[in-house]
Amino acid sequence: MLEVIITRSSLTKHRPWFDHPENPGRVSKILDTLKRMGSVTYRVWSDVTDIGEAVDVASRVHSRDYIERLIDISKRGTALLDGDTYIASDSLELALESFLLSYRFASELRGVSFLVIRPPGHHAGKRGRTRGVSSNGFCLLNNAAAGVLGFRHRGFKNIAILDFDVHYGNGTMEIFYRERILHIDLHQHPDTLYPYTGYPDEIGEGEGFGFKANFVFQPYTGDDSYTAALDYVGDLLSRYQPDALVVSAGFDGYADDGLADLSLSEASYYRLGRLVKDLGVPTLVVLEGGYTRGLEEGFRAFIEGLAGLDKSYTPTTSPRGVARFNEQVNRGVYEQLAKRVG
Ligand SMILES: [Zn+2]
Repeated sequence: MLEVIITRSSLTKHRPWFDHPENPGRVSKILDTLKRMGSVTYRVWSDVTDIGEAVDVASRVHSRDYIERLIDISKRGTALLDGDTYIASDSLELALESFLLSYRFASELRGVSFLVIRPPGHHAGKRGRTRGVSSNGFCLLNNAAAGVLGFRHRGFKNIAILDFDVHYGNGTMEIFYRERILHIDLHQHPDTLYPYTGYPDEIGEGEGFGFKANFVFQPYTGDDSYTAALDYVGDLLSRYQPDALVVSAGFDGYADDGLADLSLSEASYYRLGRLVKDLGVPTLVVLEGGYTRGLEEGFRAFIEGLAGLDKSYTPTTSPRGVARFNEQVNRGVYEQLAKRVG
């Protein structure tokens, strides 16, 4: 069963006071996409959040210092956390609501729940920005990590994370880098895009060693090369046999979405949706990036795949050198992990 939840507050709160791609209009776009689709039901969520409980749960992922810093900054009304990330007076409130909702849904859901929430979270590490990067990349609290806690709360041990935002989920990776959680992250090659980490040889440490997969794609990668890597992803997931899955869903790899250089189209997002559906385990999907066309065509195709609708899309093609490079690197990533995960 698939349920799509849109939070009412993400349509109004956390508004930039200057031109910024991460704004409430993103969720309006998704709402319009769902209305146009017609075939998928969705709920608009307007329950009020217990801020105290949200802060308690957030303190299990993020340091107290970091949360207190966010609270202090919020009191100023409007401020920049860094060059990319703004905080308005109600931003932290929205971030806490999204975070707690991720935790609660994972604690209870049976099928697949897609939370259309803001702000995104996968760049937020334990203390905010992490792994040597200069900004939080629009993120405040890590919603995917909240999902993992929710699944653990109900006793699941084998949890997997799949992050297909075009940027590397460095925050989520830092949080679980030393834990035995299969974390698969597909992103544009870190030589060419923020946050400039997430190389194929970063495969975890301690208990987490051999459970972190960074599949990377050169600029101009099309659906042909991207979906070839999805075969590896599907294989790793079926070897690992997760009890539950958290998906960080970003649609900014869609061609001309605006912040990156991949040339993906419906074919890739539909395949991703099918892959998640076919796994057949309790799944929490949280919205990460996606700013323009990705939230229309990319989101729609992903939902079609998740819902198991029968669709066929013509894949975009990659320049030959790009496809060859991706295949060589990503086969290596797969081979490194396959023997440990299975
Ligand atoms: Zn992104």
